Amino acid sequence: RPAGDGTLLGGLDPDQRAAAELTDGPVLIIAGPGTGKTRTLTHRIAHLVTAHGVPAEQCLAITFTRRAAEEMAERLAALVPGHAAELTIATFHSLGVRILREQHARVGLTARFGIADQATQLSVLTEVLGDESAARTALSSLARRRSAADGVDPDLVEGYTKALRARDLVDFDDLITLPVHLLETEPAVAEHYRDRFRWISVDEYQDVDEAQYRLLRLLAPGGGSANLTAIGDPDQAIYRFRGADVGFFLRFREDYPRARTVQLTRNYRSGPHIVTGALQAIGPTTLVPGRALTPEGHHPDPALIGLHHATDEHGEAAFVARTIDQLLGGSSFHSLDSGRVTGEGTQGLGFADFAVLYRTDAQAKAIMEALTRAGVPFQKRSHDRLADRPGVREIVRELRFEGTGGSVLDRVRQAAEAAAARPELENELHVATDLLTPLARRCGDDLERFRTELALGAEVDTWDPKADLVALLTLHAAKGLEFPVVFMVGCEDGLLPMRWPGAERDQEEENEERRLFFVGMTRAQQHLYLSHAAQRVRQGSARPMPPSPFLSALSPEIVERHGEVNPPRRKPTQLRLL
Ligand code: ATP
Ligand code: MG
Repeated sequence: RPAGDGTLLGGLDPDQRAAAELTDGPVLIIAGPGTGKTRTLTHRIAHLVTAHGVPAEQCLAITFTRRAAEEMAERLAALVPGHAAELTIATFHSLGVRILREQHARVGLTARFGIADQATQLSVLTEVLGDESAARTALSSLARRRSAADGVDPDLVEGYTKALRARDLVDFDDLITLPVHLLETEPAVAEHYRDRFRWISVDEYQDVDEAQYRLLRLLAPGGGSANLTAIGDPDQAIYRFRGADVGFFLRFREDYPRARTVQLTRNYRSGPHIVTGALQAIGPTTLVPGRALTPEGHHPDPALIGLHHATDEHGEAAFVARTIDQLLGGSSFHSLDSGRVTGEGTQGLGFADFAVLYRTDAQAKAIMEALTRAGVPFQKRSHDRLADRPGVREIVRELRFEGTGGSVLDRVRQAAEAAAARPELENELHVATDLLTPLARRCGDDLERFRTELALGAEVDTWDPKADLVALLTLHAAKGLEFPVVFMVGCEDGLLPMRWPGAERDQEEENEERRLFFVGMTRAQQHLYLSHAAQRVRQGSARPMPPSPFLSALSPEIVERHGEVNPPRRKPTQLRLL
């Protein structure tokens, strides 16, 4: 047991400590990447329970991913060993599942209701509409039904909902909208949960969507004395395409007029050039007036930001593989491109210290090929829902026919073998089995739990930070994470910022892409490499790719350029990169 709060807050700087000690009332912690927001949140909860005697079962912490929730649970288990099991550490969706399992009868479900994946949604819609192609169209419009102005046919929604409930199913959106509806219409139930969760903290608040926001407002109404702590960074809002709205963060102080605000400005994660570059990249589009971020800690010989120009995606991938090899000592720290690798010591690095980040999953293919050729082991994860991956779907379908009893792991393996009888699925199944193994292992004999975890999880939730493998992640999946060495590949106009060939520029979208670029840069601790290719295959044909306009924000003195060919002539705004 830690010796009082001295130990619990000992790992925090004075500002973080002040934030952790604001125990009552609404609090807004607004701070840039790597400033210890997540760390402060974790210590704050430990402090509440240990020093202030807040009952652990009244504490609710909401994280953005299942993986982040697990990590926080592990840390808290170490900080407050006696009480960790009584804390509720959840994502919005797992909180929704919990409320619905407890209140199932009030919403017309059994306690063992299932959560429909896309394939199930599609089959329900096909039943309602009697036609699969109409069902596909309906599915994509239903996916957007939470945004007010999209005019989805109410009859369709009603028919679909009825058919789902008849099968004792909810869909992913229902996990939030049903509890919201329940709490709105049954004040006693709302009161019960307000009483139960008196201390609420939300990490990554900049990416809440409207339904999640409404759920929070029901649990922690404004005006009064709600003990709600919202933590985040508006400049890292990157989930607009899923309905997230940074506006909820920006109006926190209107929603909670008594809120106290804390800013954290010391960045403990990244070398000074990386911090400088990230600030230049976000530049005047920042959503945080007076944004400050200063690198903390000793970097006697900090690395410049590497900027690599490749001829195509294969050259880019070869550069990544080669640089990993060099940094691991394979070529005694001599870069073939620039003659040297600048920066602080890279001794002691392992594969797990590297991440390759990209805008679209399709970019991973060339990287995987190059890493495989170089003998570099990796794990690849996107931000997509686990349940909707082709191989996973097959395994889940087979699971229904597996006998009951025995460990979930054995049953998943048997299901994968049964599905593998169809050779066309072999590759998909092999990936999928790797993804499901850690999840199945964690669930022991509890198949229900496995089904729920599977329905709630994103691919990235199964990423194993302890395995000595290079991480291949979409930029969205890399949110909240950090790595000593980061490659951000495909820094090209049309890819990052993303734009479909032929599509027009949209300023809001471009700002969001810039934030994504900012998120990517700020995952790096010691080394950051940005790369772009002069041409790449997109939608089946090779296209010339101009460098990303975001690169031109970086000043030359923090960048070290290298490349395979003479860079092509650029527009004047990009000349200062040369
Ligand atoms: P992001 O915006 O990317 O989610 P964050 O603000 O949540 O970042 P953390 O992940 O909590 O930042 O912390 C970043 C890194 O800095 C972690 O490695 C953390 O352990 C370290 N760190 C945070 N605060 C301190 C501190 N006071 N002393 C030393 N290291 C710290
Ligand atoms: Mg964080």
